[in-house]
Amino acid sequence: MRIKALDELDDFSLPAPLPLVRFCGAKGCRRRARPGGRHCRDCHAAAVRRWRDEHRRELAVRRRDAAAVRGDDARARDSARAKLAMALRRGTLERGRCRECGADDVIGVIEEPARWREVVWVCREHRQAELERRREDVAQRPADAKQAAWYDERTRVLAALELLPPAERARLHALAARGPAGTQLSPGAPLYVMNLVRVYTASLGIQK
Ligand SMILES: [Zn+2]
Ligand SMILES: [Zn+2]
Repeated sequence: MRIKALDELDDFSLPAPLPLVRFCGAKGCRRRARPGGRHCRDCHAAAVRRWRDEHRRELAVRRRDAAAVRGDDARARDSARAKLAMALRRGTLERGRCRECGADDVIGVIEEPARWREVVWVCREHRQAELERRREDVAQRPADAKQAAWYDERTRVLAALELLPPAERARLHALAARGPAGTQLSPGAPLYVMNLVRVYTASLGIQK
């Protein structure tokens, strides 16, 4: 009975520390600020809308001028972005979460304008990584195309060689076997195949 008061104090726990929260900087708004932003999402969106409304005319002019100098590729991308925005407004498509970290403050990255519905959602931080990955892909593409074109040509030439008279085929194979500095290439060597394609193509040029 005498120590009851102490026991009650033992049960008394401090409230959990308040999480560090930043509030929206807009007057009278008590919502939380966006991560990395000064205002809450709603106030930010409203501010962007207001600014667009005020600058509608010059934005239209700028868009028109920009559209005039851009190519079909860029136009397709713009149109895909516009379709995505429209779908979001109409609610036929929903914003997802960041593919990498699950954050819900996301930006849509459209890989292929024709398949804009397959938009990839990423947060600001992971968007950077996503864009870098895509730049690497694009840098890779011309090399891939060249490679594919070479394989096509090789297949076509090797098939065409089979149709040549045996003597002509033997002549071309003999030419293809000539390696650098008088060496003889074996028929399996990459350079042999390249030579073969080259001499075959050259022989077509002579016949024409
Ligand atoms: Zn706000
Ligand atoms: Zn993320």
